Amino acid sequence: MTSLLDGGMDLPEEILTGATPESLIAAKEKNFIAAGKSFPAYVNGFLIDTGTRLTLVDTGGAGYGPTLGNLAANLAAAGVSPDDIDDVVLTHAHPDHASGLLDHDGQRVFKKANLRLSKDELDYWFNDAKKNGKNKDAFESAQKNIGAYRGAGQIETFALGNDIGNGISSVALPGHTPGHSGIRVSDGSDQLLIWADLVHIPAVQFEHPAQTVSFDVDAELARQSRLKTFDEVAADKIRVAGMHLCFPGIGHVVKKEAGYEFVPQMYEIAA
Ligand SMILES: [Zn+2]
Repeated sequence: MTSLLDGGMDLPEEILTGATPESLIAAKEKNFIAAGKSFPAYVNGFLIDTGTRLTLVDTGGAGYGPTLGNLAANLAAAGVSPDDIDDVVLTHAHPDHASGLLDHDGQRVFKKANLRLSKDELDYWFNDAKKNGKNKDAFESAQKNIGAYRGAGQIETFALGNDIGNGISSVALPGHTPGHSGIRVSDGSDQLLIWADLVHIPAVQFEHPAQTVSFDVDAELARQSRLKTFDEVAADKIRVAGMHLCFPGIGHVVKKEAGYEFVPQMYEIAA
């Protein structure tokens, strides 16, 4: 698996719901973030090469923000052309994950790939009854990005939590969005969980996993998904990867007396 950096965004502390001002000051101090600065969040995508198929998990946020949109260049740097991609799997349809599906002209970047996402996710974003003043932009972006592939007959849904083939399976992590899916990659007894947006602000949410963000569609469910997953991956020492963890966004989770700690995977220099 190759981590692909799309860019980064600053997340203002106001998006954390229920955090006390004291805990935010403490989190910034502990992570050497200046008091007046926002929390930094990375945007990563992950390329899985099974030997027979190339699967890209999330596409970054090209065009969504000025500091995003580098995934295509980093894919090229990894020696892969968009036409080489067999499957694009979306963990969910938020614009920082799905906007890289289209180029500046609104054309499909991945001409040959199947776009795969959970049926729950697709159904949610194409249900206009769920659209309101607050989520209108996210709905329009999801419908545009996914719609182009749907129109071209390049879409295939999977059931949340089911095997999706080639050593890859969906892990149901609902809450952030209704069909939010983790991706478990297995190779023999080795496995890795791409947990997508289980964590947005690492400086806060490892130590305080009950903290949610304002753009969780169902904050309580998102909290439960995070707590359950932290517990499992810490107990079983499962390697994880996250879209908003510090690039390359891969590591382990360790249970502490209060909360958890993220231990990044060390770079290994290949011979
Ligand atoms: Zn995100």
